Amino acid sequence: MAFLPILFRIQELDSRALFLKQAREQAAANPNLMALQSLYRQSETALAKLDNERKKTTTAQHQLELELKTCLEHLRNEEAKLYNGTVVSSRGLEQVQQKAEEYKIQQAGLEDQILNLLEEDENLTGKQTGLQKRLKECEREIASLRQEIKQQSGEFALEENEVNVELAELRPQVPPEWLERYQRIAKAHFGIGIAKIKTDSCGACHVGLSDGMLRKAKQGEDTLIFCENCGRILYYS
Ligand SMILES: [Zn+2]
Repeated sequence: MAFLPILFRIQELDSRALFLKQAREQAAANPNLMALQSLYRQSETALAKLDNERKKTTTAQHQLELELKTCLEHLRNEEAKLYNGTVVSSRGLEQVQQKAEEYKIQQAGLEDQILNLLEEDENLTGKQTGLQKRLKECEREIASLRQEIKQQSGEFALEENEVNVELAELRPQVPPEWLERYQRIAKAHFGIGIAKIKTDSCGACHVGLSDGMLRKAKQGEDTLIFCENCGRILYYS
């Protein structure tokens, strides 16, 4: 029975299985997905910060509105005193007028501050809307990328399964000691345990073979012969 072609096919399948496993792992660790996830987390943090700032602005605005309300009440009281006859002396009236002026100045100051806060809130809301949009886009991109990765990984897994099925069929067809020998050499030589003879040289290390070795290799497939240079199993086809 021709064992060497089977062993060579096993090697091809072993390499493919390793490649597929790595490809599946690489697909799962997609750098674009990681970058998007990081961007998403950053945007979330920025949004939470904005929310906090808006809350502070709103609280400050309410506080100022309360102060304005009190100020306007005081102003109305002072102005009432000017016309309801409770203060009659000109000095008293002058003092009331002065107080009313002070309240008017305070009113203008409070109104300015409230206006500034409203502008600030508008600015923050704009930023918030932009960030929310970015988060949504990010979410969509992550979902689509995940789908892509899932599909890709699924395809790799499917082929891996096919490869493993074929390997399970082929391995028992080779004498166990041959298989073990191949596996040991492959492990020590980057996955290549068996090499084809190409132009009278070892197909793996490219060192020329002796005439005796070549004759042996060409004779048959029921003996294992090894490259004198790299130690790999030689296969003549
Ligand atoms: Zn060699």
